[in-house]
Amino acid sequence: MKIICIGRNYAQHAKELGNAIPEKPVIFLKPETSVLKNNAPLFYPDFTHDLHYETELVFKIAKAGKHINRKFAHKYYEEIGIGIDFTARDIQNECKQKSLPWEIAKAFDGSAPVGTFIPKNSITNLKNIAFHLTKNGLIVQKGNSANMIFFIDEIIEYASSFFTLKPGDLIFTGTPEGVGSIQKGDKLEASINDEKLLEVEIK
Ligand code: MG
Repeated sequence: MKIICIGRNYAQHAKELGNAIPEKPVIFLKPETSVLKNNAPLFYPDFTHDLHYETELVFKIAKAGKHINRKFAHKYYEEIGIGIDFTARDIQNECKQKSLPWEIAKAFDGSAPVGTFIPKNSITNLKNIAFHLTKNGLIVQKGNSANMIFFIDEIIEYASSFFTLKPGDLIFTGTPEGVGSIQKGDKLEASINDEKLLEVEIK
């Protein structure tokens, strides 16, 4: 199982980190060991002093495919969830400055908590999915799939031109603006359309 993550998929977030709006999806991967399930806590890693949350809609791949045309991409996912793309922003900035890959900043153990998945059929319009994150009870991030630069079907088409997609693979579709840092003791809760689907405590 693999996680395909999209970077800079919301214009306002690209802007807040000083990045250009991409012409193609920006892709990186996280390994299976990055996943946190069942609302497990994250232990703040000792290699960073600036751990950030990035709240993202997550699509679960339902069947295998390669070179999937975007017209048929909807047949490859049945469930949608919410996840956090935890990022060691200080390490990522160092990697970016040196033009090095980001994995040590983004793919470490516990960097990808995912919540309960819901059937896509329970959502009226996939291009209008509202989601948000609270930190210690206050809303810190709000997004809507309407603002994605590349919608999931386009992401599946592009990603599957490089990687075979397999059932159980996850696609993190990028964060909206409002990313921020967390400390030990913080409690994060993520919701789709006001239904809480994920909790993570930072220990
Ligand atoms: Mg992200």
